[in-house]
Amino acid sequence: MHRNLNSDSVAGWGNFPRLKTHLNTLHNIAEAQKLVQEPVSIIARGLGRSYGDQAINIQGNTAVLTHLNKFISFDKQQGILQCEAGVSLDEIITYFAPRGWFPSICPGTKFITIGGAIANDIHGKAHHVDGCFANCVIAFDTLLASGAVVTASRTENTDLFWASFGGLGLLGIIVRATLQLRKIETTFFKQKAIKTKSLDELLDAIDDADKHYNYSVAWIDSMATGQYLGRGVLTVGNAASITDLPPAKRANPLSIGKKSTLKLPFYFPEFALNSFTVRLLNEVINFTQSNTPEICHYEKFFFPLDAIHDWNKGYGKRGFIQYQFVIPEEHGRKNIRTVLEKIANSGCVPFLNVLKKFGAQQGQMSFPIQGYTFAIDFPVTTSLPLFIKELDKLILDFGGRIYLGKDAMLDQQTFEAMYPQAEDWKKVKYKYDPNNKFQSAIGQRLALC
Ligand SMILES: Cc1cc2nc3c(=O)[nH]c(=O)nc-3n(C[C@H](O)[C@H](O)[C@H](O)COP(=O)(O)OP(=O)(O)OC[C@H]3O[C@@H](n4cnc5c(N)ncnc54)[C@H](O)[C@@H]3O)c2cc1C
Repeated sequence: MHRNLNSDSVAGWGNFPRLKTHLNTLHNIAEAQKLVQEPVSIIARGLGRSYGDQAINIQGNTAVLTHLNKFISFDKQQGILQCEAGVSLDEIITYFAPRGWFPSICPGTKFITIGGAIANDIHGKAHHVDGCFANCVIAFDTLLASGAVVTASRTENTDLFWASFGGLGLLGIIVRATLQLRKIETTFFKQKAIKTKSLDELLDAIDDADKHYNYSVAWIDSMATGQYLGRGVLTVGNAASITDLPPAKRANPLSIGKKSTLKLPFYFPEFALNSFTVRLLNEVINFTQSNTPEICHYEKFFFPLDAIHDWNKGYGKRGFIQYQFVIPEEHGRKNIRTVLEKIANSGCVPFLNVLKKFGAQQGQMSFPIQGYTFAIDFPVTTSLPLFIKELDKLILDFGGRIYLGKDAMLDQQTFEAMYPQAEDWKKVKYKYDPNNKFQSAIGQRLALC
């Protein structure tokens, strides 16, 4: 085990908040068991792609799982993979895509671990078809506070199984998982971009596209107001078959991406983040999104942001939050307009703004409910926390909720009103972790531990 006896200053992907913890890099389950026995609390950490304080135990131990990254077994007929929980989607794709298998559910980055994917029950841009990550997990093994490793599945320790999806790692350390991969013919997608001038046009296009395409996501111009409010580009797609590919690509239909070496070497200065740069950014996105090629490699289709490592430094040293919320479909159009107008008039500069329509709700603490979800980047400023509080209230009034995997500012009271099922979840937490061994900064902020 690699231990640092001094405390480390650690943050999530948004670089906000930055908190002190003891980082411990684990290499096997025995090391994890030893760490859990220490008289301080602990939380697991994967690749740190949650945006806020999800994977940090303040002053206690934070156990980094990325070296528990072995494949254990693979059933070639069924596509069933058993692996350690620190394996990343990137590692799965690199090995299995050339062999015709792919992760069933992918978020906007491949640099996440299986443990992290379960703990936030991640969703991708095919949520209306595929649902959340739980749908591709057959079973997993969790190291509990008692030191025992137990299996959880749809038939064994079912309460632990369901409470772990969206459970933020607060029930134990997931050490192994069994996953269903998806059979693929190519690593390419057939896609189409639909440019829209207004919110109604965009939402109509999403409704129509979701009937024909498995994948859909829209970019919205975050600075457009008035009649142009909601101006955007909807990108939709389906997996490409070999016959969809141009002849030059048919020779290597299962190609994987080259490892990107592009990296933001330093934090951008704060003055670079203003309404002028965001307008410029929106024009660039508008152009690139509207001019997408018909056949697109998975790297660009699923993970365009992964092309530049450390792109989060572009938001400066103060960091940023990604505010992701979902509001129900009912009254959705009116309510989205209200939220977008509030943001446009707030003085807080919204950078990226992404919209998707979710399918049906599932799981105990999972984020998605049927409705519209927006993910908006805001650089951290002194006025942001107050504004986010107002937004949280509005989202709650509209019957919506915030994605805990990205949150950095939600308060306990608003959280409990958004997630009333947390009361039942806490009973499972108490059953498996009666002495509150597993704690994190977000868990404490929301009184989940
Ligand atoms: C560019 C970008 C795009 C993204 N797009 C999406 C998206 O489209 N959809 C989506 O749902 N999310 C998205 N995310 C968020 C990301 O998918 C989740 O936050 C994911 O959980 C990160 O995994 P990780 O391995 O980095 O986990 P970490 O951030 O390190 O930890 C996340 C949580 O998992 C827990 N955890 C980690 N490992 C274990 C373990 N072994 N056992 C128990 N608990 C564990 C931690 O305690 C913590 O609560 C995106 C993030 C980025 C940076």
